[in-house]
Amino acid sequence: MTDLLIVGGGIMGLWAAVMADRAGLKTVLVERDRIGAGASGGVLGALMPHMPDRWNAKKQFQFDALLSIEMEIANLEAQTGLSAGYRRSGRLIPLPKPHLRTIALRHEQDALVNWKQKDRQFFWHVQDSAPAAGWPQSDAMAGGLVFDTLAARVDPRRFLDLLTAALRQSPHVHIEEGQAVAAIDPVAGHATFADGRVLSFGACILAAGVETFRHLDALEPLSLSVPTGAAVKGQAAVLKAEVDPALPVIFMDGLYVVPHDNGLVAIGSTSENSFADPLSNDHLLDDLLARARAVVPQLENAPVVERWAGLRPKAVGRDPMVGRHPDHARLYALTGGFKISFGLAHRLAASVISEIAGQADEVLPDSFRCASHFSQLRGSTG
Ligand SMILES: Cc1cc2nc3c(=O)[nH]c(=O)nc-3n(C[C@H](O)[C@H](O)[C@H](O)COP(=O)(O)OP(=O)(O)OC[C@H]3O[C@@H](n4cnc5c(N)ncnc54)[C@H](O)[C@@H]3O)c2cc1C
Repeated sequence: MTDLLIVGGGIMGLWAAVMADRAGLKTVLVERDRIGAGASGGVLGALMPHMPDRWNAKKQFQFDALLSIEMEIANLEAQTGLSAGYRRSGRLIPLPKPHLRTIALRHEQDALVNWKQKDRQFFWHVQDSAPAAGWPQSDAMAGGLVFDTLAARVDPRRFLDLLTAALRQSPHVHIEEGQAVAAIDPVAGHATFADGRVLSFGACILAAGVETFRHLDALEPLSLSVPTGAAVKGQAAVLKAEVDPALPVIFMDGLYVVPHDNGLVAIGSTSENSFADPLSNDHLLDDLLARARAVVPQLENAPVVERWAGLRPKAVGRDPMVGRHPDHARLYALTGGFKISFGLAHRLAASVISEIAGQADEVLPDSFRCASHFSQLRGSTG
């Protein structure tokens, strides 16, 4: 019998294990393949805030998470001696049309009000010129560009290595790779693994990325007309380029250019709701690379060192799906981070672990709660 079973060794599952360790819960984390085999083992690692306008609880929650992650990473780095490749390098958003500048100037004022915490202020500066020649090139910015000082980036794989290394030091957490959960009985409180072994648990967190939805759907007594979530494919690539690693991320109409520490620049991402092969790369990635090279001429001849694809978990309500299942007291969801998991996972994991310990997280936005997703779903089946 273990206090807690965590299914999935992605960013969500690993953070859940870190928080469980802090709470002293005897924990088993099972990953069917290897840590980072799912969407989390990608290449981009952009930590992007929401827009500073029309402020609400959801934006505040993400803002606080983007600040607290800095200290979380610093502590884990000190503990393990590893680096997550984190840097608050900011983000540039070229404004291709002059009228967009007027809107951006309004957001500059919004950021002054909403992007502050205690003595820290972050900015949505509207500027005329790029911080470095060709980053991005001026054709792309007829209305100038925004420099957002809140955004950051992290190297996804080094981040997972960091979390795993910290967990390997834990007396409470045991990680089993190559072990798939085949079935979960949330009433009896046991999971059956693919090799037939059965494990009893006090609580189980489903952090299995897109697979979480399949497990949740299977538990529904009446079949749902809409599944609990879906997979959205994304493709990305890595270029080798002599680019200053301190340069901000460029974001332009779905295109990300993310300079990392080690002479590598990640380019992402496609967003595909239908696809034949979940893990293949095709012309959609070639098109994205062509756009990136047009916006940043410095990348024109940079060789591609990796092409990658993964499936983002998108819950039915679009927001993350977090917390206790409405019908099963032992079962918890931790998924649906969709495009922003890396900046939120630590905070969402803390929320689930405190709920398991009997303390509701009052700050968690209602639309994130697992129960809210289910009431929305069941509303649409009736
Ligand atoms: C191209 C692309 C670019 C992206 N860029 C960014 C970005 O810049 N910033 C950002 O924040 N997010 C980004 N994302 C989204 C982010 O990668 C995902 O939201 C996040 O990785 C999801 O993490 P997860 O832990 O929920 O799922 P996963 O990382 O998919 O982890 C789930 C794990 O569960 C395991 N598993 C599944 N079923 C079982 C089972 N039955 N038993 C045991 N284990 C099981 C899987 O093998 C997998 O390792 C991007 C995604 C893609 C595809």
